[in-house]
Amino acid sequence: MINSAQWARLWITQAAESVAENREHLIDLDRQIGDGDHGENLDRGFAAAVRGDALENAGNGADVLKHVAKTLMSTVGGAAGPLYGTAFLRGAQQLVEDQLTAAQVAALLEAAVGGVQARGKATLGEKTMVDALLPAAEAARKIADANGSAQEALRAAAESARSGANATGPMQATKGRASYLGERSKGHLDPGAVSSALLIEAAASAADQ
Ligand code: ADP
Ligand code: MG
Ligand code: MG
Repeated sequence: MINSAQWARLWITQAAESVAENREHLIDLDRQIGDGDHGENLDRGFAAAVRGDALENAGNGADVLKHVAKTLMSTVGGAAGPLYGTAFLRGAQQLVEDQLTAAQVAALLEAAVGGVQARGKATLGEKTMVDALLPAAEAARKIADANGSAQEALRAAAESARSGANATGPMQATKGRASYLGERSKGHLDPGAVSSALLIEAAASAADQ
């Protein structure tokens, strides 16, 4: 059994480590088709989210993720700040059970990508974080429907997010800053899709511990 609050704390702690480790990589990706700030923006946000004792003081998983949402909204900026802020806020509202189940994972990821789409209006294939998040939510839902475990749901979500991010390479961006490049956005991975894969991989690894 996985306790939702403990999992959420570990998820965000490991996400902050992964974002810090991949800061330069995300900056490089955003330099190719954007303005080069994605790694710096996200690192600032996740470093702020894990600072102090807010994660420890959050009483349940939903409060952990609400704290992250608020921190990202106030510190990240750009396109990704409000989008990830909305994702974590909507996801938090679904994390209502004390024990993490595959159904909870699926509901959280579906709500998160729903929030991103409500705010950013991107659909699949527009070379955004939606290309990682949507397949991840679908993969988790399949595991939940087959009565799999939370770990299995997160592992499947992480694999789908990573393949979704890798599939953004040949796409032409039609949303966000990269869309200004038109055809020239092809041939580069979308930085937001790659950071989404990192975040979901951190969620999966937190459930394995
Ligand atoms: P900015 O482009 O303002 O500098 P970031 O570099 O932090 O913001 O984030 C860029 C990422 O945001 C993109 O790689 C893409 O994944 C995501 N993004 C941008 N616009 C949208 C949108 N409308 N819907 C979903 N994701 C988007
Ligand atoms: Mg940018
Ligand atoms: Mg920017």
